[in-house]
Amino acid sequence: MKTLGSCFCGTVEFSISGEIPEPLDCYCTNCSKLHGAAFATHTVVRTENFEWLKGFESVKSFESSKDNFRHFCGKCGSQLIVFNHNYPGITVVVYAALDSKNVPSVTAKLFTSRKPSWLNDKAVQYDESVTEEEWDRYVEKWHLS
Ligand SMILES: [Zn+2]
Ligand SMILES: [Zn+2]
Repeated sequence: MKTLGSCFCGTVEFSISGEIPEPLDCYCTNCSKLHGAAFATHTVVRTENFEWLKGFESVKSFESSKDNFRHFCGKCGSQLIVFNHNYPGITVVVYAALDSKNVPSVTAKLFTSRKPSWLNDKAVQYDESVTEEEWDRYVEKWHLS
Protein backbone atom coordinates (compact mmCIF):
# COMPACT_ATOMS: atom_id res chain seq x y z
CA MET A 1 0.00 0.00 0.00
CA LYS A 2 1.32 3.44 -0.96
CA THR A 3 0.09 6.76 0.37
CA LEU A 4 0.86 9.80 -1.74
CA GLY A 5 1.61 13.31 -0.58
CA SER A 6 2.39 16.60 -2.28
CA CYS A 7 2.84 20.31 -1.76
CA PHE A 8 0.23 22.91 -2.68
CA CYS A 9 1.75 23.81 -6.07
CA GLY A 10 2.39 20.19 -7.06
CA THR A 11 6.12 20.61 -7.62
CA VAL A 12 6.99 18.17 -4.85
CA GLU A 13 5.50 14.70 -4.48
CA PHE A 14 6.34 11.89 -2.08
CA SER A 15 5.07 8.47 -1.18
CA ILE A 16 4.93 6.40 1.97
CA SER A 17 4.71 2.62 1.88
CA GLY A 18 2.98 0.57 4.53
CA GLU A 19 0.41 1.54 7.13
CA ILE A 20 0.07 5.19 8.10
CA PRO A 21 0.29 5.52 11.91
CA GLU A 22 -2.28 7.57 13.82
CA PRO A 23 -1.39 11.26 13.74
CA LEU A 24 -1.04 13.83 16.52
CA ASP A 25 -1.95 17.51 16.60
CA CYS A 26 0.90 19.64 17.91
CA TYR A 27 0.19 23.07 19.36
CA CYS A 28 3.83 23.89 20.17
CA THR A 29 4.99 27.37 19.27
CA ASN A 30 7.34 26.11 16.55
CA CYS A 31 4.58 24.20 14.74
CA SER A 32 2.14 27.05 15.14
CA LYS A 33 4.47 29.73 13.78
CA LEU A 34 5.95 27.61 11.00
CA HIS A 35 2.56 26.44 9.75
CA GLY A 36 0.89 29.80 10.23
CA ALA A 37 -1.87 27.96 12.07
CA ALA A 38 -3.06 27.09 15.56
CA PHE A 39 -1.48 23.65 15.32
CA ALA A 40 0.13 21.18 12.93
CA THR A 41 -0.86 17.54 12.46
CA HIS A 42 1.95 15.04 12.08
CA THR A 43 2.45 11.34 11.79
CA VAL A 44 5.74 9.45 12.09
CA VAL A 45 6.90 6.86 9.57
CA ARG A 46 10.05 4.83 9.06
CA THR A 47 12.46 6.79 6.89
CA GLU A 48 13.00 3.67 4.75
CA ASN A 49 9.26 3.80 3.90
CA PHE A 50 9.40 7.43 2.80
CA GLU A 51 10.33 8.31 -0.77
CA TRP A 52 10.53 11.62 -2.67
CA LEU A 53 8.86 11.04 -6.04
CA LYS A 54 9.54 14.38 -7.69
CA GLY A 55 10.61 17.95 -7.09
CA PHE A 56 13.24 17.12 -4.46
CA GLU A 57 15.50 19.82 -5.94
CA SER A 58 12.85 22.36 -4.89
CA VAL A 59 12.69 21.14 -1.29
CA LYS A 60 14.22 23.58 1.17
CA SER A 61 14.84 23.02 4.85
CA PHE A 62 15.02 25.14 7.96
CA GLU A 63 16.59 24.09 11.28
CA SER A 64 13.75 25.00 13.66
CA SER A 65 15.57 23.56 16.69
CA LYS A 66 18.96 21.90 17.01
CA ASP A 67 19.36 19.12 14.39
CA ASN A 68 15.64 19.30 13.62
CA PHE A 69 14.98 20.28 10.01
CA ARG A 70 11.60 21.37 8.69
CA HIS A 71 11.39 20.57 4.98
CA PHE A 72 9.10 22.59 2.75
CA CYS A 73 8.49 23.34 -0.92
CA GLY A 74 10.75 26.21 -1.93
CA LYS A 75 8.18 27.38 -4.49
CA CYS A 76 4.88 27.43 -2.57
CA GLY A 77 6.08 27.14 1.04
CA SER A 78 4.04 24.04 1.98
CA GLN A 79 5.48 22.24 4.99
CA LEU A 80 6.18 18.60 4.06
CA ILE A 81 8.31 16.67 6.54
CA VAL A 82 10.44 17.11 9.64
CA PHE A 83 13.73 15.25 9.85
CA ASN A 84 15.89 15.14 12.95
CA HIS A 85 19.48 14.08 12.38
CA ASN A 86 19.57 12.45 15.82
CA TYR A 87 16.74 10.10 14.78
CA PRO A 88 17.51 9.25 11.15
CA GLY A 89 15.29 6.15 11.24
CA ILE A 90 12.09 8.16 11.49
CA THR A 91 10.54 10.84 9.33
CA VAL A 92 7.81 13.09 10.66
CA VAL A 93 5.24 13.70 7.93
CA VAL A 94 3.00 16.76 7.75
CA TYR A 95 -0.43 15.17 7.64
CA ALA A 96 -2.09 17.90 5.59
CA ALA A 97 0.40 17.18 2.80
CA LEU A 98 -1.10 13.69 2.31
CA ASP A 99 -3.44 13.45 -0.66
CA SER A 100 -5.17 10.26 0.40
CA LYS A 101 -8.28 10.87 2.48
CA ASN A 102 -8.32 7.25 3.64
CA VAL A 103 -5.95 7.76 6.58
CA PRO A 104 -6.33 7.36 10.37
CA SER A 105 -7.84 10.17 12.47
CA VAL A 106 -5.99 12.18 15.08
CA THR A 107 -5.73 10.38 18.43
CA ALA A 108 -3.95 12.94 20.60
CA LYS A 109 -3.11 16.61 20.96
CA LEU A 110 0.30 17.77 22.22
CA PHE A 111 1.32 21.04 23.93
CA THR A 112 -2.30 22.05 24.50
CA SER A 113 -1.07 24.44 27.21
CA ARG A 114 0.18 26.56 24.28
CA LYS A 115 -3.15 26.56 22.44
CA PRO A 116 -3.71 30.10 21.20
CA SER A 117 -6.24 31.98 23.30
CA TRP A 118 -8.11 32.95 20.14
CA LEU A 119 -9.09 29.35 19.30
CA ASN A 120 -12.83 28.97 19.70
CA ASP A 121 -14.50 25.58 19.21
CA LYS A 122 -17.89 27.29 19.47
CA ALA A 123 -17.32 29.54 16.44
CA VAL A 124 -20.09 29.49 13.82
CA GLN A 125 -19.40 26.74 11.29
CA TYR A 126 -20.09 26.93 7.56
CA ASP A 127 -19.81 23.88 5.27
CA GLU A 128 -18.26 26.15 2.65
CA SER A 129 -17.50 29.86 2.70
CA VAL A 130 -19.84 32.42 4.28
CA THR A 131 -22.95 33.56 2.38
CA GLU A 132 -22.84 36.85 0.53
CA GLU A 133 -24.97 38.42 3.23
CA GLU A 134 -22.65 37.19 5.99
CA TRP A 135 -19.66 38.35 4.00
CA ASP A 136 -21.10 41.88 3.93
CA ARG A 137 -21.44 41.73 7.71
CA TYR A 138 -17.76 40.73 8.08
CA VAL A 139 -16.66 43.49 5.71
CA GLU A 140 -18.59 45.96 7.85
CA LYS A 141 -16.94 44.56 11.00
CA TRP A 142 -13.53 44.95 9.46
CA HIS A 143 -14.36 48.56 8.59
CA LEU A 144 -13.75 47.99 4.90
CA SER A 145 -17.06 49.42 3.72
ZN1 LIG B 1 5.01 23.57 -3.88
ZN1 LIG C 1 5.09 20.98 17.44
